[in-house]
Amino acid sequence: MEIQFHPDERIWLDRVADSAQSLGLETYLVGGFVRDKILGRPTKDADFVCVGNALDLAQKVAEAYTPRPTVSLFKTFGTAHIQLKDGWDLEFVGARRESYQSDSRKPQVEPGTIQDDQQRRDLTINALAVSLDRDRFGVVIDPFDGLKDLAEKILRTPLPPDQTFIDDPLRMMRTIRFATQLGFTIEENTWNGICQNADRIRIISQERITEELNKILLAEKPSIGFDLLYRSGLLERIFPQLVALRGAENRDGHGHKDNFYHTLQVVDNLSQNTNDLWLRWAAVLHDIAKPQTKRYEEGHGWTFHGHEVVGGRMVPKIFTQLKLPLNEHMRFVKKLVELHLRPISLTKENITDSAVRRLLFEAGDDFDSLMILCEADITSKNKQKVNRYLSNFQLVRERCREVEEKDQVRNWQPPITGELIMSTFGLSPSKPVGIIKDALKDAMLDGIIPNTYEAAHAFMLLKGAELGLTAVSR
Ligand code: ATP
Ligand code: MG
Repeated sequence: MEIQFHPDERIWLDRVADSAQSLGLETYLVGGFVRDKILGRPTKDADFVCVGNALDLAQKVAEAYTPRPTVSLFKTFGTAHIQLKDGWDLEFVGARRESYQSDSRKPQVEPGTIQDDQQRRDLTINALAVSLDRDRFGVVIDPFDGLKDLAEKILRTPLPPDQTFIDDPLRMMRTIRFATQLGFTIEENTWNGICQNADRIRIISQERITEELNKILLAEKPSIGFDLLYRSGLLERIFPQLVALRGAENRDGHGHKDNFYHTLQVVDNLSQNTNDLWLRWAAVLHDIAKPQTKRYEEGHGWTFHGHEVVGGRMVPKIFTQLKLPLNEHMRFVKKLVELHLRPISLTKENITDSAVRRLLFEAGDDFDSLMILCEADITSKNKQKVNRYLSNFQLVRERCREVEEKDQVRNWQPPITGELIMSTFGLSPSKPVGIIKDALKDAMLDGIIPNTYEAAHAFMLLKGAELGLTAVSR
C-alpha cells in the first residue's frame, strides 16, 4: 500500500525527505499520524523515525525554512521537535530498541532498526511506518498486519500482550482509550493481557493515567472506556470510588438502580450536548457519594439523603487523588455536584420566586451547565417518563428566565458593600458586618426588598438598629 498525501502535507514531507536524503538517513513517518491518515481523522502531529541521529535531521529540516523555526532538542531522549507556523508539529526521533526492567517504566534504550522501533510500539495500528526514501516514498512498512487490523477495527499488540503491557503498563490505558475514541474492538489475547496485568498500572504516574482518563472522557461515548476499565480491573485500582457505585441491592422487593451504569449513562447523555471536560467530570461525579449515604428505610425503600453534599466534599479529594487541577475547574465540578438535585425540587408545584432566585444566585453563570447535567441525569427507560421530566425541566428553565429578567440575580453583587456597612456604623471588620451582609442577601433573594440601592440602604439601617448599632454621622 502507498499513502497519498495532501499538497499541504507534501510541503513539509518533501523537506524532511530531502533533508534525510542529503544526510543519507533512512527515514519514516510513523505512529499516530499514519494511523489517523488512513482512518481519515484530522491530525496535526507528525512523528518521524530515522535510523541514525534525529537531532541532525531536525536541524537540517529547520534550515530548509525561512525564517528558520526553532528546534527544541531533548538530548536525553534523543528527540527533537519543530513547530511550524501553520500548526504542524513535527517530532523526530532515532530508531531505537528498548529493554525494560521489571520495576520501572524507564527502558534501557539503544539505537536500533526500524523493525526494532516498530515492535516497541503499543498496538499494531500504531506500528505502521511510511518510508520517505525517494525510491519508495509513501510505501507502508507493516510487519504486524496493522493495516488489516485498521480495516477490521481491531486493537492488538505487536508482540505477545504480556510483554507489551509488562514493559509499559500505560499501554493498557492507551488501548482502552483507543477502543473508546475509535470504536475498535480489543482482540481477545490483548484483552486478557490487560486483565492479567492490571495490577502493574501502579508503576505509572498519576498524571499519565489521568491524561488517558481525560481522553476517554472526551470521546463521543465515554461509557465504552469506563466499562472496559471496570471489567479489566483497572478502574478499581485507579478510581475505586467509581467502582463503589456498582451493584443494585434488593430488600423486601425494594431495589435501587446500579449507580455505576446509571452514571455512565448520564455521562454519555451529557456528552451529546457538551464537549466541556469539566462538565463531563461533573457528570462522572454527580452521584459519587451514593454508597456512603445509602440507607434502607423500613417500608419505604432505599434513600441517598445528602449524597449531593457529601459528594461535593469528595470532589477536592478526588481531584487531589487524580492530580486534576485544584482551581476554578474543581470548584465548578464541586458546585455542580452540590446543586444537581436543586432543579428537580423546582419542578414541584407552587414554587416561590424566592426559591428560583436562590438557585439562580447560587448557580450564577453555571446555571445552563447545571440544567444540562440535570437533563442528562434522566435515565429512565420509559419514554413517557423521560419526556415528562424533560418538559418539567423546560418549565424550570422558563421560570428561571422570567425571574432573571425581572430581578437579575444570576450575577448579583450586593449593592451595599462591607466597607459601607463599617463606615455607616463606625465598625471595624467584625461579626455584625457579616450578619448585616447575609441579612441583606436573604432579604433580596426572598423578595422582602427589591434589588435596589435605596431599598438595601434602608434595610441596612433597620437591621443595624435591630443589632443595637447606631449610624455615625460623618
Ligand atoms: P494521540 O496523539 O491521539 O494521543 P498517538 O497514538 O498519536 O495518539 P502519541 O502519544 O502521539 O499517541 O504517540 C505517537 C506514537 O508513539 C503512537 O502512535 C505509538 O506508536 C507510539 N507510542 C506512544 N506512546 C506509547 C507507549 N506508551 N508505548 C508504545 N508506543 C507508544
Ligand atoms: Mg499523536
